[in-house]
Amino acid sequence: MAYTVKCPLCGEIVRGDSEDALVGAADAHGDAKHNGMKAPRAMVLGAARQSDD
Ligand SMILES: [Zn+2]
Repeated sequence: MAYTVKCPLCGEIVRGDSEDALVGAADAHGDAKHNGMKAPRAMVLGAARQSDD
């Protein structure tokens, strides 16, 4: 089971294999693409979707 979340700033799909991995990937995405901007964990997980692949 993978988790995905669509970045509200650029629309890129960020994914992780667990909730922790997804939050980590979202943090890394913020560092790489948005000058270190990070969403709170609760916001990332609140917007997350589960996917089967
Ligand atoms: Zn983004």
